[in-house]
Amino acid sequence: MEIIHSPGQMTAWANRARQSGKTIAMVPTMGAFHEGHLALMRMGRSRADLTVTSIFVNPIQFGPGEDFDKYPRDLKRDGGMAATAGVDVLFAPSPAEMYPTGFQTTVSVTGLTDTLCGRSRPGHFDGVTTVVAKLFNIVKPNLAIFGRKDFQQLAVISKMVRDLNWDVEIVGHPIVREADGLAMSSRNAYLSEAERQSALALSKSMQQARQRVQAGETSAGQLIEETKKFLQGHPGVAIDYVSIVDRLTLLDQTDINRDSVLLVAARVGTTRLIDNTVLFDEQ
Ligand code: AMP
Repeated sequence: MEIIHSPGQMTAWANRARQSGKTIAMVPTMGAFHEGHLALMRMGRSRADLTVTSIFVNPIQFGPGEDFDKYPRDLKRDGGMAATAGVDVLFAPSPAEMYPTGFQTTVSVTGLTDTLCGRSRPGHFDGVTTVVAKLFNIVKPNLAIFGRKDFQQLAVISKMVRDLNWDVEIVGHPIVREADGLAMSSRNAYLSEAERQSALALSKSMQQARQRVQAGETSAGQLIEETKKFLQGHPGVAIDYVSIVDRLTLLDQTDINRDSVLLVAARVGTTRLIDNTVLFDEQ
């Protein structure tokens, strides 16, 4: 596995790969790898000739007071893990190379970003779409893989690619969970033992909601109230939002249907966690 830091060198590599007829899969990340990230990389390997994983803790997608400074960074450990997953290139640029002095462009998807995490984290998705646009131009992937754990992010990036006629296939990967159900996240490392127990409430609430829908519940409002009540029953869990939305428009629903997704964001101690589930099994 090759490690490339310079955007120019990355593009030169991508041009050579494309010219020799190879397809490129890309997995954009912020590092601090866990099994979820590795699953995306393996999917890349199975879908393209070459796989590039980027590691970039993107300053412009963090708001003031968020965890940009303390976000875990360990290139050596991550490099070892990416190599075992069969990644061909680890692209790890510096903030100064990604945003040189005088950088003045923002890529912004409207509408889809007004709700859910976009409402709680103003400017976050502009940071995400801007960096992903840059990464796509630098790495020139044929396809890019994103986790459904960040459900809104996947929807926003899919929209950006459609709206801008970008010739990159966006592929969603199912949420990878710990054995007890907790959605894997780099931020789980911040949790104390007690907080980790409380954090389990998120995935449990998803499972319960699915069971309620299977048992015939059709009211989104009722299910949201029950989910909130369940989460509030756990110490240290502070709800940011519980929403049921249409999976494509991300608009709130009143009645649950086959396109319904339940999403939750909550703070456990000082750590912000998210989880989501479709409410009917996918066909
Ligand atoms: P991050 O480094 O946390 O920004 O995540 C990089 C990519 O990995 C994003 O597409 C995430 O959605 C995805 N990802 C993170 N955690 C998981 C998980 N538990 N299951 C599936 N995908 C994930």
